Amino acid sequence: MLEMFRADLHLHTCLSPCADETMVPLAIVREAKKKGLDVVGICDHNSTRNVKAVRRAGQREGLSVIGGVEITTAEEVHILALFDQQSDLDKMQQLIDQNLGGENNPELFGEQYVCDENGLIVGREMQLLIGATELRVEDVVANIHNFGGLAIASHVDRERFSLISQLGFVPERLQIDALEVSPLHSVSQAADQLPQIRNYPLVSFSDAHQLEEIGRVFTTFTGVSPSVRELGKALGGKDGREVMN
Ligand SMILES: [Zn+2]
Ligand SMILES: [Zn+2]
Repeated sequence: MLEMFRADLHLHTCLSPCADETMVPLAIVREAKKKGLDVVGICDHNSTRNVKAVRRAGQREGLSVIGGVEITTAEEVHILALFDQQSDLDKMQQLIDQNLGGENNPELFGEQYVCDENGLIVGREMQLLIGATELRVEDVVANIHNFGGLAIASHVDRERFSLISQLGFVPERLQIDALEVSPLHSVSQAADQLPQIRNYPLVSFSDAHQLEEIGRVFTTFTGVSPSVRELGKALGGKDGREVMN
């Protein structure tokens, strides 16, 4: 029996230096429930270290939480990586750590808080998370797939840090699972303006950096559970699953 899931799978927490300090696990989960979402995805810049805390908050409050990360490639393209298994997310983190340089200066770039589910600060990420990794787009996508995840190109309609802004096009051989349209445009507006994106599955997530932004846009998909595996089937139109924007 297929169900419908309202998904906003691109949220930042207080770990991202550009995100609001109120973006702590319990507050994120409560806001998402208030907005009527069924599942959220946590995708901080180049770090997965607040995912477990949000997942615990989700378990407590009854909201599904998918673990992910927004990776900055060498070309300064943002790619979302989503995983069902924590062990696969850990492999992704290890690869990012091996390919990310620089140390954060909180006064310049903002604080990078690691917190528990209640929002208590338990540490600080020292790496400069807004920097670019040395991994190229194709390598990022290939590794996400090797580790069992889905690769979605972030905010393709934005003028910075997107596949189209950085490369000028979506590389034909890139095995990207979907393209994300930002809240700046509706999916149909973006498809009108960027004909090259029409051949790909499209999703719309909020890229929330503040609580009120959570759920401002979302994508609904059908499946037996609100999982990455089921989303992958829906993006591919397999087994009767589908994606609705
Ligand atoms: Zn981004
Ligand atoms: Zn983002």
